[in-house]
Amino acid sequence: MFIGHFALGFAAKKAEPKVSLGTYFLAVQWADLLWPTLLLFNVETVEISPGITRMTPLDFTSYPVSHSLLMMAVWGAVLGGVYFLFKKNIRGAAIIGIAVVSHWILDFITHRPDLPLYPGGTARVGLGLWNSFWGTIITEFALYAFCVWLYLSQTKANNKQGVWAFWSLVIFLLLIHVMNITGPPPPNVIAIAWAGHLQWLFVAWGYWIDNNRTDLES
Ligand SMILES: [Zn+2]
Repeated sequence: MFIGHFALGFAAKKAEPKVSLGTYFLAVQWADLLWPTLLLFNVETVEISPGITRMTPLDFTSYPVSHSLLMMAVWGAVLGGVYFLFKKNIRGAAIIGIAVVSHWILDFITHRPDLPLYPGGTARVGLGLWNSFWGTIITEFALYAFCVWLYLSQTKANNKQGVWAFWSLVIFLLLIHVMNITGPPPPNVIAIAWAGHLQWLFVAWGYWIDNNRTDLES
């Protein structure tokens, strides 16, 4: 999943509007923000094998630190804990924790059985939605559209920036998603890792949007 994760970041705003959209993006995408760095340092590995699923050529051979269920729960507690230290908002901290773990749940639905439960474990799980082209497209686009609508029903723009910063991100994420699906497989693992780091841009973009929009109920 790609836009599906960001979708839940938008939706989280409905559950607790006090947390910035940028923080929610950091939480829902934490696993995929950490993963490229771990790839560069050879802590985790991936192989490119076109055809392994209908939707992605990536064979996730080892990623227990960024993508095991146990570590995602630990990361969720860490991110939620840090947020609580600074903001003293227990509801926001809990939703950030859930948002981090939501990444594993969405990946569990989409990935073939390659997700570990805990580091060192041999079991690999995944329901394999990625084996179905239309199943993936319909699920992910429907989730995205619904969550963007939820976000819009919760916030309003303070100024022009609040309008176009938001809509440009919504469209940009869609474009990247379509390019990922239709484009050629990445040339090598280093290219995957560097491209993965560009996702930090979306976290910054989330803060930018949030600074120019207001919660409708406040
Ligand atoms: Zn992931």
